[in-house]
Amino acid sequence: MLFSDLGLKPEILRAVDDVGYTTPTPIQAQAIPYVLMGRDVLGIAQTGTGKTAGFTLPMLEILASGRARARMPRSLILEPTRELAAQVAENFELYGKYEKLSYALLIGGESFEDQIKKLDRGVDVLIATPGRMLDLFERGKVLLADVKILVIDEADRMLDMGFIPDIERIVGLLPPLRQTLFFSATMPPEIRRLSEAFLSNPKQISV
Ligand code: AMP
Repeated sequence: MLFSDLGLKPEILRAVDDVGYTTPTPIQAQAIPYVLMGRDVLGIAQTGTGKTAGFTLPMLEILASGRARARMPRSLILEPTRELAAQVAENFELYGKYEKLSYALLIGGESFEDQIKKLDRGVDVLIATPGRMLDLFERGKVLLADVKILVIDEADRMLDMGFIPDIERIVGLLPPLRQTLFFSATMPPEIRRLSEAFLSNPKQISV
């Protein structure tokens, strides 16, 4: 299996080639075609499996082929920690370097002012931790009406950190007609229940 077999456009393949990846990891090979088809995905995968590119690459492809409405965010990626959110942002920049897509990194411990400035200019993707995301939403700074792709990453860590009520609130704010990609290293009953609530007819992938 080659990256070029997955249905990604040349600009994204070139960016992947620049990073130096030669072949997709198992989660990438399995997830990317289904994400591109518009399917919901339940990925049971640990960090280190390449799952970040597994959702970022097809998301870039989908966003690049669509039109933004007044640059309202069309995609929301939720991460349990600032560090993971920052890593996803780095990946987004690497893989999206030939695309004209923008993102805002909404994490705690950083100034609200800079994040709000970024949001006011308009972005395609939000990469956020749940607390900061809700805080900015309550301040009226985040528009969620155009979000078509939701990624919930590291769901079991969200559970350990007590973020499930925040996640449920955020999902309740999103348009119901959307694509959802849900990743967890383990599937305890509470996470199984959440995945069933958030996903519709998902393609399940375990690596
Ligand atoms: P992740 O599980 O998304 O945190 O990725 C783990 C590490 O694998 C990161 O350092 C990525 O840069 C790297 N990686 C992701 N996809 C590939 C690939 N197809 N080939 C080689 N390395 C990769």
